[in-house]
Amino acid sequence: MTIETKKLADTYIAGTYARFPIVLAKGSGCNVWDEEGRQYTDFIAGIAVCNLGHAHPRVAQAVSDQAGTLCHVSNLYYTRPQAELARALVERCFAARAFFCNSGAEANEAAIKITRKYFSDRKQPEKFRIISMRQSFHGRTMAALSATGQDKIKQGFDPVLSGFDFVPFNDMAALENALTPETCGVMLEPVQGEGGVVCPAEGYLDAVRDFCDRHDLLLIFDEVQTGMGRTGKLFAHEHFKVAPDVMTLAKALANGFPMGAMLASERVAPAFSPGAHASTFGGTPVISAAALETVRILTEEGIIAQCAANGDYFKKRLAWLQERHTCIEDVRGIGLLCGVKLDRPGSKIVTACLERGFLINCIQENILRFAPPLIVTPAEIDALIECLDQILQTL
Ligand SMILES: *Cc1c(COP(=O)(O)O)cnc(C)c1O
Repeated sequence: MTIETKKLADTYIAGTYARFPIVLAKGSGCNVWDEEGRQYTDFIAGIAVCNLGHAHPRVAQAVSDQAGTLCHVSNLYYTRPQAELARALVERCFAARAFFCNSGAEANEAAIKITRKYFSDRKQPEKFRIISMRQSFHGRTMAALSATGQDKIKQGFDPVLSGFDFVPFNDMAALENALTPETCGVMLEPVQGEGGVVCPAEGYLDAVRDFCDRHDLLLIFDEVQTGMGRTGKLFAHEHFKVAPDVMTLAKALANGFPMGAMLASERVAPAFSPGAHASTFGGTPVISAAALETVRILTEEGIIAQCAANGDYFKKRLAWLQERHTCIEDVRGIGLLCGVKLDRPGSKIVTACLERGFLINCIQENILRFAPPLIVTPAEIDALIECLDQILQTL
């Protein structure tokens, strides 16, 4: 007798997730299907992960080819896909070197470790504190959650790692005030994701870069959510023409396969010398092949330019919705990372969308977040807007 999937999961899987009551079985492009064959248009894409859409044929082929050739040998040896992936990333940004791991949290662990190690190597071990942002999100491992500026994520896990100070995002005066002789870096998301899709104010990232330079601090950008084309540039910081010393990636890096990366500048990279850090699975051949193909498709096929154009269109349509519905307090975002702030909780709207065949997401109780595959079409955007318009009329 087959046991219903939902029951099986609720019996045997750790209870860390409050899931929606659908079982997804298949995906293609911007669509997913549940076990009963019901189709949904996906406006969250596995939380900004499947930027090329679900089951991209070229990524599937790259994975399949590599899985049939060599899956894993550890980092005791060289492998071609990892080396090529590192080059593909480094050639497209400020960095000189890449370290590979398996998730966003791990990428941030690596960023925190290399920052402390950099100053330790320079005989300044007293510089170990990192200034992070309120409402930030950097992941759930102990160091990453310690760097996260949201109390609800830390609850129950004290004592968290010491050495993090928090200031409001977009507040230079608070940043200046938080500086101590022990400060070694500033860590932030160029656009806050989980915190509510919050964009940097004009000139803010420039001012943070300047602050870091003046006080000999490293600047760490967490681009786990904003990277890989999501905002209409390969990396969000390109919009603001500000380069960090360290950048972290994960989510969309391998279009659905688990991979994280920490990229460091020429000056910082040597702090990760042999033995300084490691990961058994980091940059393993199959995942590296998936990521390499993802980078190629993103940069060869004009998808990022399409994301920028469709992101502008999406925001225009959301603004149209805002004019019609007073419960919408704000529409914001960049590229295809969009947020709609409501004057009430958004969970009912998410459920109503699900019932009408659209997957969307709500964060911070009252902010709807949209992060569709970058290949979403204006027609799919229009269909979602019409759906939201109907739902908001019945509120
Ligand atoms: C999702 C996210 C993380 C954590 O990534 P995991 O892969 O879940 O560990 C870290 N930082 C940001 C900005 C994220 O959006």
